[in-house]
Amino acid sequence: MRSWEKNVRRVVPYTPGEQPNEPGMIKLNTNENPYPPSPQVLEAMRRFDTGSLQLYPDPTAGSLVKALAKRYGRKASEVFVGVGSDDVLAMCYLTFFNSGKPILFPDITYSFYDVWANLFGIPFEEQPLDDNFCIRKEDYYRENGGVIFPNPNAPTGVLLPLADVEDIIRRNPDVICIVDEAYIDFGGTSALPLIDKYDNVLVVQTFSKSRSMAGARIGYAFGSECLIRYLNDVKYSFNSYTMDQWTISCGAAAVEDEAYFRETLDKIIATRIWVKKELEVLGFTMPDSKSNFLFISHRSVPARELFKALRAEHIYVRYFDKPRIDNMLRVTIGTDEQMERFVTFLKEYLC
Ligand SMILES: *Cc1c(COP(=O)(O)O)cnc(C)c1O
Repeated sequence: MRSWEKNVRRVVPYTPGEQPNEPGMIKLNTNENPYPPSPQVLEAMRRFDTGSLQLYPDPTAGSLVKALAKRYGRKASEVFVGVGSDDVLAMCYLTFFNSGKPILFPDITYSFYDVWANLFGIPFEEQPLDDNFCIRKEDYYRENGGVIFPNPNAPTGVLLPLADVEDIIRRNPDVICIVDEAYIDFGGTSALPLIDKYDNVLVVQTFSKSRSMAGARIGYAFGSECLIRYLNDVKYSFNSYTMDQWTISCGAAAVEDEAYFRETLDKIIATRIWVKKELEVLGFTMPDSKSNFLFISHRSVPARELFKALRAEHIYVRYFDKPRIDNMLRVTIGTDEQMERFVTFLKEYLC
């Protein structure tokens, strides 16, 4: 080993789902929205003045923050934005998880949580989900350095009732609790109103799933003015100009199109309901999902085999070779047409 290597920050990076690009493929592996962004986004792009690229973007991303504040009935000072919720969450870790005590999150959850903990040298303890893949709130009633969980959880799709989310926040007054609501729009109730009642909660959401803009990279957090101020102090000590001008304009335009947002959500939820029924007839079981994906397992055919068979057909789903979930597949809800092809393939393969 060369002597400088002793001082390298060594990390095992997060592995994102693959991004194949094949004509005719069906991509159900990274929970993207199958529908395009709001037409208002295209309009914002048309209106965009490229001459303004000469200038740095607004470091506060003011127009986007204002649009979000208006849409959610909050003050701009209660909104933090970042380059995808991954950026927002990383900033939250850096800002709030510094006690030296272990932070808590579920054993089966978003696989970035332990990656950030390792990157920042934050100890953590994983709390096992119960046999039905539900979070047990009591597991979070112990001394800790902070709490984070997605609601609905990923990759299970299971929603924790809002009353239980509140119990976890209420029982942890000395640390920050982060509720990662990447999938909340697909059928859950947001914890957002709790920011008025508790000064230790951050509610994080993203444009990547329900707003069809994974490629634009926009995430945001709601919290008390005090929490948002601390987050901004850290952000401005790291990189002030995180969001580019295009993204700020397009993001603001997307938030303003409520009708389109509702319309695509309703389509995805309706598709999820019929796909679930079809899969159950084919011998699959799955927890009840309130997200834009299903977490399925077949009564006789191993998940790994199905994953390979689907892949050979250019149908991409997600397989996690991890304890407790190595016989499960996570399948993003696509368009009706995509899901019909998915179900038809399984019908033929399984009979
Ligand atoms: C997709 C996802 C994110 C990250 O989304 P961004 O694209 O970075 O906004 C965060 N948390 C969970 C649970 C997710 O599934």
